[in-house]
Order: sequence, then structure tokens, then C-alpha cells
Amino acid sequence: MVGADGSRSVVRVAIGARYEGAPGGRPNVNITFRSQQLAALLPERAAIHHWVLNPAASGVVGPLDLDGTWWAIATGTESIADEAEAISLVRALVGAEIDVEILATDPWRARLLLADSYGSGRAYLAGDAAHQNPPWGGHGYNTGVGDAVNLAWKLAAVLNGWAPPELLQSYEAERRPIAQQTIDFAATNMKMLSVDLSHSSLMGTGPDADAARLAVAAAIQLGKRAEFHSLGLVLGYGYGPDSAAQAPAGDIYLPQAKAGNRLPHARTAEGRSLFDELGPEFTVLGSTDDARRLYQALADRGVPAVHLDAVAHGFAPDDVPALALVRPDQHLAWVSSDGSLPDDPEPIISAALRGFMTTASL
Ligand SMILES: Cc1cc2nc3c(=O)[nH]c(=O)nc-3n(C[C@H](O)[C@H](O)[C@H](O)COP(=O)(O)OP(=O)(O)OC[C@H]3O[C@@H](n4cnc5c(N)ncnc54)[C@H](O)[C@@H]3O)c2cc1C
Repeated sequence: MVGADGSRSVVRVAIGARYEGAPGGRPNVNITFRSQQLAALLPERAAIHHWVLNPAASGVVGPLDLDGTWWAIATGTESIADEAEAISLVRALVGAEIDVEILATDPWRARLLLADSYGSGRAYLAGDAAHQNPPWGGHGYNTGVGDAVNLAWKLAAVLNGWAPPELLQSYEAERRPIAQQTIDFAATNMKMLSVDLSHSSLMGTGPDADAARLAVAAAIQLGKRAEFHSLGLVLGYGYGPDSAAQAPAGDIYLPQAKAGNRLPHARTAEGRSLFDELGPEFTVLGSTDDARRLYQALADRGVPAVHLDAVAHGFAPDDVPALALVRPDQHLAWVSSDGSLPDDPEPIISAALRGFMTTASL
């Protein structure tokens, strides 16, 4: 059983796991609305986020489509009594008496919570049931999808009998540190919100207000960079002791073909993606007889795998590891240091079927 049942997870309670961390955070209300006049007020095309730094009404506004549906976050607002209040909040954020049709309102608070257990045996947690991030940086859903991708192939492997049950223990060992890292990152982003940046000096006209706006624009570019440039955090994490660490700020993704890391992506000259060529379960990458030998050893053990000679499929030899074993979740189970396979591939396969055990508790 997988409890993917969100922050109030009954499965989490049932298995005796607890959220740890800080439940607090500032109140916010999300408002989804329609307006035909709002787009015309924006200088060019609508951006994904428009940060409103008016101390009388601060928050964020952005488009949900290009057809007049919008979202707004009123930061610091506890709740909304009725539709009239929602309409006046939107108009205050936008700074104009535009047409507003309210579709939904939704109060929420940012939380920094991580379950002390991701489950064991026959019951596991995934997604917000296991962790809650502040949304600043937009990583809650990513992290949940990463959990599902990690857990699903392991459940299939154990239930179909081609991996030992201890493979499932590696789910928590691999995913919980990633959630912790993501929560820490989002918590840093939460330190500078529109309420922190807003100031009456920004609202006037004339050279002083212009200078204040320029100064805060520079502060935003500096302080909010990590929130919007986080590929290192999202794609760059690895599992296990041999994975290569990324830049601490998380903004730069350095693809590295190391065991535990995501397989570095590559394309052929015609634009075909390496990820599209991988098998649905394990993939042996390599052109040599050793690659065929590793594939055969997996097949002999009943482990579903495909053999991909990527170079023969048009990928440049420098873009793909010479010999590697790729897991179903596109992480590298094993990478040959010199392109060859040891005489006995059994320890490599056994290790791949146990996952990367990294936490002391295991
Ligand atoms: C303002 C805001 C902005 C966000 N922006 C981003 C973003 O840009 N990028 C990002 O990656 N994430 C973002 N997130 C986070 C993201 O929304 C969540 O992390 C994600 O929705 C969690 O997905 P989930 O499936 O784990 O849980 P949920 O979406 O909570 O789904 C759980 C489901 O389980 C159901 N359920 C609960 N109990 C039971 C039960 N007993 N029986 C049956 N069903 C049950 C619920 O009805 C629900 O449908 C944001 C969150 C907020 C609040």
C-alpha cells in the first residue's frame, strides 16, 4: 500500500509515522479568478509571476492560461470572508478597478515537515504524505513525483520476484535526504517574500521612488535567483556514496555519469533523446561484448533489461558512458570506470537490486 494521500495522510497516522519540523509559516490565501482587462494592464506578455510590492496589498499574481484565467496569492491574509472581499483583494493587488470573476479561494500556510519514517514492509508514504515544502521554488510536486518514480519500480521488482524485499528499504534511504535538502532550500527562498520586499517608498512617483524601485529590483535579482534557477537541486541529486555532489546553491546542473546520479541526457544529431531509447526496466548501455555479457547475466537472473548500443543508435561516444547499468528510474546503478566488466558481474547485479543504502539507520 502506498499512502499518497496528502498532508493529512491517514496512512501516515496508521503506520505510526509522524511529521517532524516546523508547522508554522505565514498565512496566505490563493484566489483563482477570471479577468479580461488584466492582461492589457501588463507591459508586454504576462510573466509567470508578477510580484506585488505594495505594502497595502502584497503578493503574487500570474496567468493560468492565455484566455483570462489568473491566480493570485495574497500573502499575510488569514482568510477571506466572502466574494466581495476576494474581489477587492484582487483589485488591490492589481492596483486597478478591473473586472474580476472569482472562481475559487483557498487559504494555506507554508510548512517545513518531513515524516520520521517513509514506511516499511507492506506500507509506504509518497508525496506530501511524507513531506511538505514551502511552495517557494515550486518543488513539492516534483519531490512527490520523484518518490513515486523511485518507489514504483522497487515495488514491481519485489512483487514480481526479481529483487529481494530489502530493495524497498532503500526507498527511504534514497528519498528522505532529497526531501530534507529540498525543504531546506525552499525555506531559504521563503526568507524573502513580497511582504518583506514591499515598502511605501516604492509606491510613489519621481526620482526617489524610481531609485527605490531600481534598488529593490537589484535585490530581487540577487535574492530570488535560487528560487527560479534550481536545476542542480531538481536534476542534480544522486543516491548513495558514489554520487557526485552538485553546487550547493543548486542553480547549476552538472550532469555526471557517476553511480547514483541521473544518467546524463544526450541527443543524436537528428534530435532523438537518449531517455526515449531506454528500456522500461533496467538498461545496459554499451557497445562491447562486456555489455552483452552484463545483459545476459541480468537475463539469467530473471531481471528484465534491454541492451542499448547507444553509439550504434547515433549517439556520440563522448555523450554516453562506455559501459553502465541504468535503473528503471534513469539513475545509474553502476558505471564502469574503464569500460570493462569484471569476470563475475554478480556483485554488480546484487547491489543494483538492493538500491543505494546510505542512511546509518539501515
Ligand atoms: C500555493 C502552492 C503552490 C505550489 N506550487 C508548486 C509548484 O510550483 N511546483 C511543485 O512542484 N509543487 C507546488 N506545490 C506543492 C504541490 O501542490 C504538492 O506538493 C502536491 O500537490 C502534493 O501532491 P500529493 O499527490 O502528494 O498530495 P495531494 O495533492 O494533497 O493529493 C492527495 C490526494 O489524496 C486524497 N485523499 C486523502 N485522504 C484520502 C483517503 N483517506 N482516501 C482516498 N483519498 C484520499 C486527497 O483527496 C487528494 O486528492 C504548491 C503548493 C501550494 C500550496
